[in-house]
Amino acid sequence: MSSLICMKFGGTSVADAERIKRAARRIVEKREAGHSVVAVLSARGKTTDELITMAQEVSAAPDPREMDMLLSSGERISCALCAMAINDLGHRAISLTGSQAGIVTDESHTKALILDVRADRIRAALEEDHIVLVAGFQGVSQTAKNVTTLGRGGSDTSAVAVAAALGAEVCEIYTDVSGIYSADPRIVPDARKLETVSFEEMLEMAASGAGVLQLRSVEYARNHGVRIHCRSSFDSEPGTFVVAEGETMEQPLITAVTHSVEEARITLTGVPDEPGAAARIFEAMADANVNVDMIVQNEPVAAGGQAEISFTVPRDDMRAAVAALESLRGASYAEITAHENTGKVSIIGAGMRSHPGVAAKVFGVLAREGVNIDMISTSPIKISCVIERDHVESAVQALHSAFELSGEGTIAVEEPFRAST
Ligand code: ADP
Ligand code: ASP
Ligand code: MG
Repeated sequence: MSSLICMKFGGTSVADAERIKRAARRIVEKREAGHSVVAVLSARGKTTDELITMAQEVSAAPDPREMDMLLSSGERISCALCAMAINDLGHRAISLTGSQAGIVTDESHTKALILDVRADRIRAALEEDHIVLVAGFQGVSQTAKNVTTLGRGGSDTSAVAVAAALGAEVCEIYTDVSGIYSADPRIVPDARKLETVSFEEMLEMAASGAGVLQLRSVEYARNHGVRIHCRSSFDSEPGTFVVAEGETMEQPLITAVTHSVEEARITLTGVPDEPGAAARIFEAMADANVNVDMIVQNEPVAAGGQAEISFTVPRDDMRAAVAALESLRGASYAEITAHENTGKVSIIGAGMRSHPGVAAKVFGVLAREGVNIDMISTSPIKISCVIERDHVESAVQALHSAFELSGEGTIAVEEPFRAST
């Protein structure tokens, strides 16, 4: 069989009829260049957000199984429409749901993990010379055979998983910016486009808020050796390749500044200073399927004193986290506070491993901006600071400029900047 390429189009890239036709033409061009093509599509524009709102309008706490039935419909619409457009261009296309495409997941609704891709049906359709369109963001659970979804931004992971299962030459992620930048180009308009970025750095970037690739897609690509090329769906310029550590040519001290405004911070006071106290708290978070990010705890200074634990969770999980902690009140902690207006800025760079003084510079820059740091965490190649949400934008800009990361006038986005959310 000819070489196989997996193409993924994000929500903005299929937002209206014209864009669906444009994506269809791009897919057909690839086919006409002699490749077999599987395309994974996202829901159109803001469809997923609208579906979530619809659910909230009818229920205060929508049933997770039904939520997934609802949310998965957005991607199916895109695929069916795109298949129609491709057929009109004289090619044969078939659209498949995640389940039909053989994407098998665990049972955890709204943030399921892909366990396996049984791609026989995709392969059969390719053998019959079809272009195959796979609905992103969804699968079918292994045991209960329910429709599941993969968490926000999950179509990236669908695409990488399909690419891995089929041994695709490359997984092309077509999006609304021209690649992966030294910061979100919507906040830093003169951010620099990276030609390559290592998996190690991209994992840290995705984990700290660079939503251009879903974190799990980067993990999956690294584990299965999938080559990711992240590029614009509006032009044909090369974008950014995510490559193995040794392959990247760029080794600056700092590669990128990332941010998130989707955090919440939970603080527990009066935590007994005894073995097992933290375990109980974080077991409750795990049982509630809440992803905990940064954790800070200090041993009480005074003998017999009580500890404080602060940690961050995705803002969408805050209510679930607080509810899950309720039953531990008294035995495991005295008071709980939750802050919704929390954000985070991070700097990432493989080069900082061997350079002291980076943390001092970060804190100095934030101090000059008048930004108070609530929590700090580091990895060998990352420094993250939890700060007030309202300060995130100026903090990102100040750090990007202090570390001299700007590029030379690359136009990153086709459309006017949308207000950052
Ligand atoms: P899609 O719908 O195509 O999946 P997303 O909105 O999920 O698109 O991801 C693309 C967006 O990621 C860009 O519009 C940009 O605002 C944002 N982004 C955040 N950080 C970065 C970064 N470092 N480089 C490029 N884009 C970034
Ligand atoms: N449509 C889903 C979302 O908005 C998945 C995706 O776009 O990747 O999160
Ligand atoms: Mg996305």
